[in-house]
Amino acid sequence: MRTYIEKIYRRSKKEYYDCIEKRIQNEQKTFIITANPEILMMGEKDEEFNKILLDDNTQIVADGIGVIKGAKMFGIDIPERITGVELSEHLIEYCNENEKSMYLFGAKPEVISKMKEKIIQKYSNVKLLGVQDGYVEDKQKVFEEIEKLKPDVVLVALGAPNQERLIYRNLEKFEKGIFIGVGGTFDVLSGSKKRAPKIFIKLNLEWLYRIAGSPKRWKRFYEGSIKFILKIRKEVKEK
Ligand code: UDP
Repeated sequence: MRTYIEKIYRRSKKEYYDCIEKRIQNEQKTFIITANPEILMMGEKDEEFNKILLDDNTQIVADGIGVIKGAKMFGIDIPERITGVELSEHLIEYCNENEKSMYLFGAKPEVISKMKEKIIQKYSNVKLLGVQDGYVEDKQKVFEEIEKLKPDVVLVALGAPNQERLIYRNLEKFEKGIFIGVGGTFDVLSGSKKRAPKIFIKLNLEWLYRIAGSPKRWKRFYEGSIKFILKIRKEVKEK
């Protein structure tokens, strides 16, 4: 776990945005993982996911507060969260201001079409090269299509870890592009699903709001967060 956590971006959100904007301008291929404890735990259990996290082309940012708390146990300070939702929103704005191109892949058909509508209405300078819902049978084929279009930014909202696997398996074929697995971001940005009320976000309790509203997430929470903390405690003690 320490090796993953040591890789996580440790400066402010603003500095990270600047860094990504530069990478878009310079056409430097980048794969970003917005990590929560569950995603990092996947690296411990799965060989391919371990490789994905440690790959030189992969950047990791702390999406979940649990990751920041876990890092602290290793004595590593991460100043703030960089969430998939905020990063996506920022990149849409950036692409709008700089006439850059995007492809959006994932979420339910009605959600992705609302996203498309929103971008056309509100961010009309974005070169939206395509959108595709996340329930098509052959997801690999969608990536082949994206490959031909060569977008500056590709947001993939299929849920972790599938979105990361799919990006990773295709990354080699691209010469440029910022690729991010953004989970439920389109549900939030399209207005189909509300993010936690501001007070929960401010108190760092967004995770509690999300699991309380979805019993399916309880097991994931245990697997991710509780086991995550236990694993870090063990590693800290062993050192
Ligand atoms: N999703 C999809 N295709 C699938 C399964 C899921 O497009 O086969 C979408 C789903 O509609 C949702 C997102 O992936 O928009 C996953 O959201 P969730 O909040 O579960 O993911 P997390 O943010 O926890 O990774």
